[in-house]
Amino acid sequence: MARIVQKFGGTSVADITRIKSVARRVKREVDAGNQVAVVVSAMSGVTNQLVAWTNDLAEIPDAREYDVVVASGEQVTAGLTALALQEIGVPARSFLGWQVPIETDGSHGKARIGGIPTESLRGCMDAGVVAVVAGFQGVGPGDRVTTLGRGGSDTSAVALAAALQAERCDIFTDVDGVYTTDPRIVAKARKLDKITYEEMLEMASLGAKVLQTRSVELAMNHRVRVQVLSSFTDAPGTLVVDEDEIVEQQVVSGIAYSRDEAKVTLVKVADRPGVAAAIFGPLSAGAINVDMIVQNISEDGTTDLTFTVAKADLARTVKVLEEQRGTLVYQALKPDSNVVKISVIGVGMRSHTGVAQLMFKTLADKGINIQVISTSEIKVSVLIAEEYTELALRALHTAYGLDV
Ligand code: ASP
Ligand code: MG
Repeated sequence: MARIVQKFGGTSVADITRIKSVARRVKREVDAGNQVAVVVSAMSGVTNQLVAWTNDLAEIPDAREYDVVVASGEQVTAGLTALALQEIGVPARSFLGWQVPIETDGSHGKARIGGIPTESLRGCMDAGVVAVVAGFQGVGPGDRVTTLGRGGSDTSAVALAAALQAERCDIFTDVDGVYTTDPRIVAKARKLDKITYEEMLEMASLGAKVLQTRSVELAMNHRVRVQVLSSFTDAPGTLVVDEDEIVEQQVVSGIAYSRDEAKVTLVKVADRPGVAAAIFGPLSAGAINVDMIVQNISEDGTTDLTFTVAKADLARTVKVLEEQRGTLVYQALKPDSNVVKISVIGVGMRSHTGVAQLMFKTLADKGINIQVISTSEIKVSVLIAEEYTELALRALHTAYGLDV
């Protein structure tokens, strides 16, 4: 008998028909002799509505009450799913975050899980009862309800799988797995049978929305075998696994893109020690994350410095830098949100050369100008004008031999 965790996202529990179909899927695992813990999201659209209501009431809602409101979507689905299971003869009960308990810190709206005592869940499952856990929520200091950040029920599921030492954590969604790139843009995109934790982490943090980034981190740290698959079909999904489980590793496994970044160029900044610190110090003090950075060589004692921030932080970035005008000398500040970051990702890069060069050449052949470059051990990212997103993705997908 194996213990498994099955997580169902918003579209998989969008209405009563879908919830009934989820119950039948859970029943199949139970009938196969497995102990099942189910983690559910709110029905699709519900969390957005709840967030909107808090914003209608308060410009900056009290984070503790915000969590009480937005956590409620998962409570509804947990109860309905337990009912649906009971209706087809499967003993089931719901658990809210505090009942498990899923213990978190007090950073409301983005709480981190500290520990999950599993006695109550194990007791339930050992008695042959399916435990249906409300995802996305936990309990923080002072017994306050907390939530784990948008998309957080993926993290609930992986954390539970780790705590329960589950054999598998199946994440059911509305796509049938992880693709080499966005299939809505590249028709030749291919579903991957397996992907390594590290690649998945890069894909998730670079814009592939299929798993919450933190859930991948957690899976990697605890070696949880995650499978991403569709609740709308019976096709096998994508397994997220350790590198040594992948026999034939491609050099590049996937290409991600993010339209969420914006570029800022400071023209003719004085080129002397301490300048970078004077620019990035105030930004980090303002909790603005900087991603890519380039600095040109200097010939006349000044230099151009370009970097990227989240699009949502662009206005604030400009404001912070303008406030530094007294101490920071520069000729002009040029914000540009018409950019996209494209990244090629693959653990095979560690042992192969020429990966970056192929990217540069492919883009050059299409006449696409590269504005900023950054690299890490397993990825190469470039910033280009947003209008070239589709062209660049398709050309790179072909160049790296990923087309079906
Ligand atoms: N319902 C929450 C959200 O929409 C959590 C989740 O679905 O993972 O962000
Ligand atoms: Mg999700």
